[in-house]
Amino acid sequence: MTKTVFSDVLVIGGGIAGLQAAKKLSELGLKVFLAEREPFLGGKLNSFAKVFPDNSSPGKFLGELIDFVIKDENIQVQTKAEVKEVNGKFKGFSVKIESTDSSKKPVETDLKVSAVIIATGYRLFDAGKMPQFYYGKHRNVLTGLDFEEMFKDNILNQKPLFRPSDKGKLASVVFILCVGSRDEKYQVNCCRVGCLNALKQAYELKQLHGEEMDVYICYNDIRAAGKEEEELYRRTRESGVLFIKGLPSEIKPLSENQLNIEVFDLSTYKLLSITADLVVLETALSPNTDLKDKLNLPLGKDGFYREVDIKFNTVETPIKGVFLAGTSQGPKTISETIEHASFAALEAATLISSKTNL
Ligand SMILES: Cc1cc2nc3c(=O)[nH]c(=O)nc-3n(C[C@H](O)[C@H](O)[C@H](O)COP(=O)(O)OP(=O)(O)OC[C@H]3O[C@@H](n4cnc5c(N)ncnc54)[C@H](O)[C@@H]3O)c2cc1C
Ligand code: SF4
Repeated sequence: MTKTVFSDVLVIGGGIAGLQAAKKLSELGLKVFLAEREPFLGGKLNSFAKVFPDNSSPGKFLGELIDFVIKDENIQVQTKAEVKEVNGKFKGFSVKIESTDSSKKPVETDLKVSAVIIATGYRLFDAGKMPQFYYGKHRNVLTGLDFEEMFKDNILNQKPLFRPSDKGKLASVVFILCVGSRDEKYQVNCCRVGCLNALKQAYELKQLHGEEMDVYICYNDIRAAGKEEEELYRRTRESGVLFIKGLPSEIKPLSENQLNIEVFDLSTYKLLSITADLVVLETALSPNTDLKDKLNLPLGKDGFYREVDIKFNTVETPIKGVFLAGTSQGPKTISETIEHASFAALEAATLISSKTNL
């Protein structure tokens, strides 16, 4: 079945960036078609029990935003949607979207829009590319995102965390920062959220397990700039988390349940040897550039979609009428994503209503 739909703006991706852009566009009086690949909205935020900098639960905020978008009559949401083809130009884009209806029959939508906002987010760096960290080989090595997904309910319900390999007691946890980030071989840039995420997760571990658990953060620098971020850093230090200024070059499995980490601590000039029940790798944020060819979008040096101006306009792309929102443009925190998406919506609405830009 093929149906034709007329709207003002197509927003691709229904994470926090796409939801916020759709909401803002509707508030500005525009009609929006929101296409999300997964069967659900919310993107990565669905995985998080708590979010930095204040370690609050994002559930209520996300729930309200999704509710707004679903109920708003200016916004049409299509989940399980794949963008197949994009033709035309500003004020005359024609987009083919494939989805399935409630009886799982394929539906093709021929969508006519004036502008497109790309809010397709990021992918997580594949830590398996660095075999020295045994990711995917040892069950007690997780990424920061795995940690969120595995322990979301425990953290929300204040239940003790467990060792993934045998559900045994967790007595020692080591966080390793900058995995795949700030590295010429992988992702050159800083991931922007790894330090803060480790501080958040380490703090939560100490809140739940107190002195019964040793928690270490191996770092190069701690990047925690911002209004409340320094407070998170201070709070985490005071909670008893141990900070080691140095990154291990490898980790070694000791058994199915434990690993050994040797790391030279530059602040004490000592070589430390730690036995860990769990190692958490705070990995790079990698670009998700699925739509590069369909929209002829150029990429920046970091591999993310390229904006027209890194200082003054990070939402417009060199293709007129195509905008970026959130982490599709580069790593961002939630608050930065929300601001960026609002700006993308505003710029798209301004361009559409401008009479001189036909
Ligand atoms: C381990 C970890 C912990 C974090 N913790 C925090 C925290 O505590 N506080 C904080 O401020 N930030 C945190 N962040 C950052 C946070 O994840 C991002 O700021 C936020 O998720 C960005 O939202 P987004 O909508 O840009 O991207 P995403 O959340 O990635 O959403 C993108 C959406 O687009 C969809 N999509 C992708 N491709 C397509 C396509 N081709 N067609 C249709 N749909 C598509 C995806 O399915 C998804 O729903 C963390 C990040 C990591 C890695
Ligand atoms: S935010 Fe922290 S963990 Fe991530 S790359 Fe930057 S310094 Fe490393």
